[in-house]
Amino acid sequence: HAKEHGRNSFRFVTREMGARSRERLDLEGNLRRAIQEGQLFLVYQPQVDTLSGRIVGFEALVRWRHPEEGLIMPGRFLPVAEESGLVLAMGDWVLGEACAQIRRWKSRFSLSVPVAVNVSGAQFRDGQLPLKVAHALDINGLSGPELEIEVTEGTLIGDVEAAAATLTALKRRGVLIALDDFGTGYSSLSYLHRLPIDKLKIDRSFIHDLSTGASDSSVPRAIVGLGRSLGLSVIAEGVETQEQLRLLRDLSCESYQGFLFSRPVPVEEVEQLLGRREAGEPVPA
Ligand code: C2E
Ligand code: MG
Ligand code: MG
Ligand code: MG
Repeated sequence: HAKEHGRNSFRFVTREMGARSRERLDLEGNLRRAIQEGQLFLVYQPQVDTLSGRIVGFEALVRWRHPEEGLIMPGRFLPVAEESGLVLAMGDWVLGEACAQIRRWKSRFSLSVPVAVNVSGAQFRDGQLPLKVAHALDINGLSGPELEIEVTEGTLIGDVEAAAATLTALKRRGVLIALDDFGTGYSSLSYLHRLPIDKLKIDRSFIHDLSTGASDSSVPRAIVGLGRSLGLSVIAEGVETQEQLRLLRDLSCESYQGFLFSRPVPVEEVEQLLGRREAGEPVPA
């Protein structure tokens, strides 16, 4: 009886795995084509000063408009991109597109705040990243601080010396460095002061815990304090409620991003925000 059950569940598992690897293969082939055929696009989420409500930056986030399946979020195709190595081609596209967009926004709206792009571990460790970043900046006439590179803690641990060398090369070209999803990694804090980092991004799980009643602000408070003592700026991710924003102000966390102010939005909506900002009109806070 038990044996039979075991055999059935084995068969079930293999069938499941078959379906899953087929989906993976489909996605892989399609993603390769998507990169070449322009099905990827970027949306941008504003980053906001907690006190003034002014926009202090944007984060670029990749999306895939699939001809049959519609919109696919990075949570679904990034794992495939990473396993297949396609994340390098995708990352090149993201970098080039973000820098071209920055150039357009600088000339049309005198954009003066940085745009952040996410860089995955494979891209960071590839060895070519500083060259690729320099190239994307050069061909768009950018000096560097217009672009921010987001890496996660997980990307830096392992070989801290190599990571330090890559970060140093990026800093030499003038870009800003942010540590994404901060607080979720297994990092020892000892390496932080040795790396040329500009900003800590408090992971949104800790902001989620900042809800009324069960509110626990100990981690955000600690990260803000750490940022202050290391001379780094601190931004909170995933701010959805006024209550969370109020608590972040109390903690003197200088900036935030999240659905409360805006979801990530397409280019046209960023341009509306930038146009209103240039006209001196207040933007929603
Ligand atoms: P991330 O870099 O931590 O980006 C923040 C994610 O949180 C985004 O999800 C964003 O849409 C979402 N978010 C923003 N505000 C809120 C909020 O108030 N509440 C909630 N619940 N979520 C919020 P998204 O766009 O699905 O991206 C997921 C992850 O995929 C990113 O996490 C990043 O790690 C990765 N990713 C996105 N774009 C790129 C890219 O161009 N290159 C690479 N390598 N990774 C990317
Ligand atoms: Mg990010
Ligand atoms: Mg994040
Ligand atoms: Mg995240």
